[in-house]
Amino acid sequence: MAAAGSAPSFKGGLPLFRFRGIRVFVHWSFLILPAWIAIAGFMDELSAADILGRIGLVLIVFVCVVMHEFGHAITAQRYGVRTRDITLLPIGGVANLERMPEEPKQEFWITVAGPLVNLAIAAVAFVAIAIAGITVIFSDVMLGATTVTNVLMFVFTANLVLFLFNLVPAFPMDGGRILRSLLSMRMPREKATRIAASIGRFFAVAFVLYGLLDKQPFLALIGLFIYLAAGAESRMVQKQAALRGISVRQVMRTRFWSMPHTATVQQAVDELLAGGDHDLVVLRDGRYMGVLTRRDLVQAVSEQRLASPLHELPVQDVPAIGPAVELNAATLALLAGKYALIPVVDEDRVLGVLENENLAEFLLLREAARQGA
Ligand SMILES: [Zn+2]
Repeated sequence: MAAAGSAPSFKGGLPLFRFRGIRVFVHWSFLILPAWIAIAGFMDELSAADILGRIGLVLIVFVCVVMHEFGHAITAQRYGVRTRDITLLPIGGVANLERMPEEPKQEFWITVAGPLVNLAIAAVAFVAIAIAGITVIFSDVMLGATTVTNVLMFVFTANLVLFLFNLVPAFPMDGGRILRSLLSMRMPREKATRIAASIGRFFAVAFVLYGLLDKQPFLALIGLFIYLAAGAESRMVQKQAALRGISVRQVMRTRFWSMPHTATVQQAVDELLAGGDHDLVVLRDGRYMGVLTRRDLVQAVSEQRLASPLHELPVQDVPAIGPAVELNAATLALLAGKYALIPVVDEDRVLGVLENENLAEFLLLREAARQGA
């Protein structure tokens, strides 16, 4: 899988290693997988060695999954797109790309690189099996040779399955992204995304139903994940299309709540009760300093720090944006995930704030105006 900024990010992972500047995490929920295998093996009255063997095979699959994700990440690097991290989930890996290029050709190559890694591993395993097979024939006394062949067979089959499964056009899985990029070469990206997402939802529902009927919970989970992600990404792309060519100045809210950094918590609370915003823009000598969230303000009140000046509170250094900047995917991703509010600053003067809510309102008004016209 390759996910861009809009996809749900999975926080709370255990760092494994770093390669080419990309950190690899394993999400805590990954532990469900070996636990599941152990319980299933115990129920089937398998020996401890057999259970460990099965867990070992799953770990081999996940090594291949990590290599698949690096296929995406390294290709993305070639197009100047950074990958924040790679996270392993029980349902597979996610390469958390900073953004997915809108250029269809770039999206195509970044996406196709993942499954191609699995195809390459399968090919190497195939050659190795052929060589090992010959060795077994010539020295059948060689202990463990069959086990090696078995593992190689497993690596071959697993990678072939990974290759084929990822090519299923279940957007935003790789196959769906490949489909979207191919469609985008012939039609607007919004339309291509809509089509790919519809097909993706169809497969998602099929996965969930089949997973439930065939008692394959992980397939059902993958289906659920695809369903949610397809909807989220489709909405994101429609939103991006609607915002194209619009500057920050056009959508910023010019009435916002700000206070000097020397004001006290008590003063901020008074203003909040009189009708303050959710977040407070803190100014130092009239210049932008940072953003204080309501949560941190309430926290200060509960710690009875009413007399403390605001600059002693954890004022967040939210990166400001210029008024002439055109709205883009990166800004939307910031608003969707990291910050509730982004200050619009010109020469240190705060002109307004950018918020998800007023973006939504702007889009609604624009849509209404378009329909009325
Ligand atoms: Zn992938």
